[in-house]
Amino acid sequence: MRFLPVFLDLKAGPVVLIGAGELLRAKLRVLAAAGARIRVHAIDGNHDLSLGPDDAARIEIATGDPLTADLAGVVAIVCAGAGDVGVAMSVRAKSVGLPVNVMDDLEHSSFIFPAIVDRGDVVVAVGTGGTSPVVARRVREKIEALLPARIGELAEFIGGFRKSINERIAEFPLRRRFWERVIDGPIGASVLAGRKSEADAALKAISDPSDFARADKPEGSVALVGAGPGDPDLLTIKALRALQDADIVFHDELVSPEILDRIRRDTTRVAVGRRVGKPGIGQDAINTRMIEAAQSGQRVVRLKGGDPFVFGRGGEEVEALRSAGVAYSIIPGITAGLGGAADFEVPLTYRHEATRITFLTAHRARDAEGVDWSTLTDTKMTVVVYMGTTAAPAIRAGLFAAGRSPETPVGVFARVTRPDAQGAIGTLRDLPELVRRTHGGPAILIIGDVVRHAGSLRRGNPKQIISDLLDAAE
Ligand code: SAH
Repeated sequence: MRFLPVFLDLKAGPVVLIGAGELLRAKLRVLAAAGARIRVHAIDGNHDLSLGPDDAARIEIATGDPLTADLAGVVAIVCAGAGDVGVAMSVRAKSVGLPVNVMDDLEHSSFIFPAIVDRGDVVVAVGTGGTSPVVARRVREKIEALLPARIGELAEFIGGFRKSINERIAEFPLRRRFWERVIDGPIGASVLAGRKSEADAALKAISDPSDFARADKPEGSVALVGAGPGDPDLLTIKALRALQDADIVFHDELVSPEILDRIRRDTTRVAVGRRVGKPGIGQDAINTRMIEAAQSGQRVVRLKGGDPFVFGRGGEEVEALRSAGVAYSIIPGITAGLGGAADFEVPLTYRHEATRITFLTAHRARDAEGVDWSTLTDTKMTVVVYMGTTAAPAIRAGLFAAGRSPETPVGVFARVTRPDAQGAIGTLRDLPELVRRTHGGPAILIIGDVVRHAGSLRRGNPKQIISDLLDAAE
């Protein structure tokens, strides 16, 4: 970190702004939005700054030479489109110890402008040490998407009560606890939902704030969260918020490390998933631990690959939570079948060609033998098989026996939406061989005519081409 982010009070004195053209006007807008008093030197002599009526009182047009102008009381100097004058002004500012920014000139700047997320009282500044404003803007866009829309109103709401609560709770840690409970509880939720008067009444109804802060334990809850198939950018905004808010996360082994990276640093993580060939803790033990954590007041996230309600045992967990009387919520995720379809450009439905989709699981050959394959012979049905790699020969046998053609197109898509995703496309006859060519890891099978439309294999990603060449050479 080369620059320390700080927030400057621009009401303390004028900012001197020197420059020309649109660059000057853009900086003028930023400074005016921050409530600054601004002394403008338009060095091209164009004083038409399109000021609004409110600005006139705070913005002063200076006509003298900025290099000799009086700097008494000035809080900062900003140069935008000022050319050599900017460089000379930087030397002058540094000699008198004033912060100076020369736009796009790190060497002559002692401070730089961040990309700004402005939600009223909540302001986020994003910097890249001056290396790439475009990257800073991209980060800002992500933060914009993540912050609840009314977060500024929440800060303002709290600001309105701060003084009175400071007077009523003397100890700082207890005061902090008080605000955490307000923000995380129903009062905070009301403000974020736009029901400010309700929140106002609820906060005023707290007769003893210290008691409220100390009260035994806050109510815990469990969120069943779908993590999607692997790409962390496929988490929903809600899922990301839940990960950021959690005190403890119970996650499947299948959840990718990049997604686990999005969990808050100080959150406890517990891997509970089972993996083929490796025993995990049983479903009952998972339920018990989640319930205990919630009952002790923690915000629990149960993080599952894909979607919690698609072959994820989410249904059983919800039943356990219901019967324990624990508050819960369900945040859907992108299931592997949909992730794979998008990744490899297989439309699961297609006008006239595929009008139904079946998602099924065939864990072991025994499970595959238990499937009534005769219901899956409609050629207009796309079949998406989960956990189907080991049972591939049994799946093929079942579909053949039911009368599906050996020429039915099939795709095996492994590790979908991850950087090492790999697909193999062929016909039902080759199914076990296709599985072999994707080299392990979780994989889904898509069976049906729609597989003919697959795109990214034809376009050829470099990894795929190399692996196909190696396979061909074997
Ligand atoms: N709830 C999950 C499914 C869990 S069952 C979901 O909605 O996706 C586990 C099976 O999901 C795996 O055997 C595999 O068939 C599939 N799967 C999960 N992640 C996958 C991935 N990244 N690529 C391909 N298949 C995946």
